[in-house]
Amino acid sequence: MPEKIHYRGSMLLILSVLCGYMSARPVWVSLYNNLQVQTVVVSAYKGELSVSGDGLQEFVISRGQAVHVALHGEKIIVSSTKGVVGAFNKLNITGADAASVVRLRPLQPLAEPRNYEESVYMYADMGRIRMINQIDEKQYLAGVIEAETGSGRTPEFYKATAVIARTYLYGHADRHVSENFHLCDETHCQAYKGKCRHAPIPVAVEATGNIILTDKNLHPISATYHANCGGETESAKNAWQTDMPYLIPVTDPYCTSQPSARWTKSIAIDDWISYLVKNGFVPNPNTVTDFNLKQSSRKPDYKVNDFVLPVKQIRNDWNLRSTFFSISVENGTVVLDGKGYGHGVGFCQEGAMEMGRRGYKYDAIIRFYYKNVLLTPVSEAHISVPGFE
Ligand SMILES: [Zn+2]
Ligand SMILES: [Zn+2]
Repeated sequence: MPEKIHYRGSMLLILSVLCGYMSARPVWVSLYNNLQVQTVVVSAYKGELSVSGDGLQEFVISRGQAVHVALHGEKIIVSSTKGVVGAFNKLNITGADAASVVRLRPLQPLAEPRNYEESVYMYADMGRIRMINQIDEKQYLAGVIEAETGSGRTPEFYKATAVIARTYLYGHADRHVSENFHLCDETHCQAYKGKCRHAPIPVAVEATGNIILTDKNLHPISATYHANCGGETESAKNAWQTDMPYLIPVTDPYCTSQPSARWTKSIAIDDWISYLVKNGFVPNPNTVTDFNLKQSSRKPDYKVNDFVLPVKQIRNDWNLRSTFFSISVENGTVVLDGKGYGHGVGFCQEGAMEMGRRGYKYDAIIRFYYKNVLLTPVSEAHISVPGFE
């Protein structure tokens, strides 16, 4: 979705734009991106960490040891139990070997600790400690899949989500280019909470090779997803006024008995009428007004007499789970009988989980929700991946 990008004066570090994939190049992910971290504790969750301050001063964090990293103006100050280690512009924390794991625990503001593989790079950035995980693509994708879909899913569902997460990565690798990293760890990009703990997920990532979803011109698609479509997916055209040939309505029999399939909300009729009046509805005392709405298939608008309100606006105004709801009036109460959870465009997670349980292969699951797409190796797709130093 459109996001405001804050451009800064110093775009020092964008050295090259590579047309190719990241096979050996790490993904740069901004950690705790939504927090203005001032102090963070760094420890070795597994193995040993080697730390380099400005490429000069090197020291080791052994298992069980921790250091505090605090912002101080344009520098970051590192201290251990023995006192201040030094003040640095940049700190590079790397596992001593492949099994080492970096643990971060922000103290100010307080946040849950998370574990990261490979390297974490830190520096002062506009009043915060910027923390970047430089991470292998596959390990990053496994972390995303765990954060986005949880544990205990079928291998084919995980494979489908691996392709979607990889498509997002290569389709949006330049999203934060002005901030000198590829993606953030929030839902703005893809949720990423560090090292994946569930063994079947990396297996699914590996099994899908370097496949992403592209259109016929070999450009990565906008692989949108949501929790539950309620039985029919929404078109990108209705949801966002952007027509995309692969994001078109699909009748989905797989999600309708799943946990997020249904919701209801009751609103007093007077509150409902005031809401409509506020939006331009003019009640007519001489006629019987029909407030009902029937959505057996998705409709873009709610109509009362000649008054029209987009269902998308109703969803936003009342904080509803979806736009896929019917309306009836029962004893002075307006009852919204809703289906699904989320915008409903593209891949329906609960439907896809059920398809996985019923034995569908990952490519069949993908093609059920995204129409007219190609499963393309990254090396053959048109992508642009910025490189940072
Ligand atoms: Zn982002
Ligand atoms: Zn569905």
